[in-house]
Amino acid sequence: MKCDFCFHYCDIKEGQKGFCKVREVKNNKLLSTNYGFLDAIAIDPIEKKPLYHFFPGTTTLSVAQVGCNYNCDFCQNWQLSQNEININSSKTSPKELVKLALNYKTPSISFTYSEPIVWQDYVIDTAIIAKKYNLKTIMVTNGSFSKEARERLSPLIDAFNIDLKGDAPYYKNICKGDITPVLEGIKYLIKQGNHVEVTILLIEGIHTKEIIEKLAKKLIELNVQVWHLSRFFPNYKMSNTKATSEQFLNQMIETAKNMGINYVYSGNSSIHSPTICPSCNHVLINNHINSDAIKIDLYKNIKNNKCLNCSTKIYGYF
Ligand code: SF4
Repeated sequence: MKCDFCFHYCDIKEGQKGFCKVREVKNNKLLSTNYGFLDAIAIDPIEKKPLYHFFPGTTTLSVAQVGCNYNCDFCQNWQLSQNEININSSKTSPKELVKLALNYKTPSISFTYSEPIVWQDYVIDTAIIAKKYNLKTIMVTNGSFSKEARERLSPLIDAFNIDLKGDAPYYKNICKGDITPVLEGIKYLIKQGNHVEVTILLIEGIHTKEIIEKLAKKLIELNVQVWHLSRFFPNYKMSNTKATSEQFLNQMIETAKNMGINYVYSGNSSIHSPTICPSCNHVLINNHINSDAIKIDLYKNIKNNKCLNCSTKIYGYF
């Protein structure tokens, strides 16, 4: 049987599993072995997803099941993403998850930490119920959708943070993947009007100024407005690689801004990242980040999605 959840389009035989190891064929049925087993659950500031232009200042109920369709050496969440065995022994139904979000009064649910593309059946079932209660839904994803998956998810998911990991050779050599479905996914979702922010995990010594320039050019072509550049820390199969320095991150942030990306933010960093009007340079939102929480001075200079100083329209929902 063919799984159409992601770009791999695995052909799975009876008793076998797909590349992600959480989709299997049993009794002639294609099933998800992780369905409903929430192996991580937390309430996060939405800025931690990271989403800086999608209802900043709110919290989101973050959940994850095990599984991923990539096996990146640098994975920062490999205990969840590379695991095929459910850690939690009990299931949470989509209805129960929506109820939890309502009880915790988080205005959104985020499917995050591992790769929600490989558990999109649960994401979809939850999003359908969440919509009835006016809850927003968010996917934090590597963006390697199949065509069918992006068409299924776009009407149900309000905001996406998509990880664009590097250029085409980086995907081929380091991720053993393919950049094309990711770029096609970003293009499609932006065209459909979904809120999209993009992230890169910046590895000093591997990513270069040239790569950042190349990616910035591509993102501008795709009409991406928000780009998060996040520091790598040693982990998984790259435990001996040194952490990306603040200095390198700062240089790459300047490169991205000079290339013309409207909103560029630092991640895993102490570099101050306010939201700045791209036309008049006024600070719109002041994000003060520490390791556990994000405090922000909201709406000081933004009203009806416009800069109070010069009336430029600001991308996102505020
Ligand atoms: S989700 Fe992707 S990797 Fe997993 S079985 Fe389906 S097509 Fe293969």
